[in-house]
Amino acid sequence: MHIVGLFPEELKDWLVERQIASFRADQIFLWLHRHTVAEFSAMTNLPKEIIRKLQESFGSVWPLELVVRRVSQDGTEKYLFSLGDGASIESVLIPDGPRQTLCISTQVGCAMGCSFCATGRSGFTRNLTVGEIVAQVLWVQNRLKPLGKEISNIVYMGMGEPLANYDAVLASLRLLNHPQGLNLGARRLTISTCGLVPQIRSLATEDIQVNLAISLHAVDDKKRSEVMPVNRRFPLNELLAACDYYTEKTGRRISYEYALIRGFNDHQGEARALRDLLKGRLCHVNLIPINPVGEVQRPSARSIAEFAQVLEAGQIPVSIRKERGTDIEAACGQLRQTHLQE
Ligand code: SF4
Repeated sequence: MHIVGLFPEELKDWLVERQIASFRADQIFLWLHRHTVAEFSAMTNLPKEIIRKLQESFGSVWPLELVVRRVSQDGTEKYLFSLGDGASIESVLIPDGPRQTLCISTQVGCAMGCSFCATGRSGFTRNLTVGEIVAQVLWVQNRLKPLGKEISNIVYMGMGEPLANYDAVLASLRLLNHPQGLNLGARRLTISTCGLVPQIRSLATEDIQVNLAISLHAVDDKKRSEVMPVNRRFPLNELLAACDYYTEKTGRRISYEYALIRGFNDHQGEARALRDLLKGRLCHVNLIPINPVGEVQRPSARSIAEFAQVLEAGQIPVSIRKERGTDIEAACGQLRQTHLQE
């Protein structure tokens, strides 16, 4: 377990095992999660002996290092990090006025195999640890602070299926939400899933009520199964029932993500079917003109607008995601793929 993945109670155990006063745990936690220090030596209210022990036990503060940073003309920043075992992951910072949204990864690769996704194509390597998930946030927060900015929102939408790494993701949410840490409210935390029904139902009953985004991308089982193999295990009716349960338990509006792919799911008939599918549900549709990967192309601006109009006319709240970072390969898994090829 890496130090940034530990709760104050676990830090206390570590201290007590070394005959160090347990009140130091709160100080260490604050340095790590509130002040987001990069070095143990920056923990200036700790005796040198404790700093030496921290360095001996944990090596570095963060279990990741920056490999590549790319900045888009629109301000989007993409980071490729290497982990202790040489694996690499991506995080993306999306500035939008006062909002600084960070998109983080939860797995190295992904086993879900969505056909339109660069990460899905590269296969699954392993789950990230709690520390590796949280460290992406702390690292970026540390970078933003001197600029007078801070992370306002986190989306678990990077590499990997968050709910397939359920325990680590849940612990990371609790750490980011911790009052002694960054204290990010649950409303600022969003889990995006391809639709793992049992885990959606479990998450609904946890005591942290985060936002839920569902990657929908198609309105009938045949088509959805074509691009998202997970749909063969959990078809649309089961998925929507689990989402209704989530709303019932948490009162949260579900965000349905619909990546518009030219010639595949962008017809008016599909817009009407989507409208009918979601009618009466507490929801919002986020239309995502897809970042081109290989032969997958996005529809024209006109057909995107027409798709949105059908939903609006049916009283379904809808937004069209702004195109961000295409010049820096901001689509999930693209930068890592390019780096591995290089
Ligand atoms: S879209 Fe998400 S769930 Fe699907 S393969 Fe890519 S990372 Fe995995």
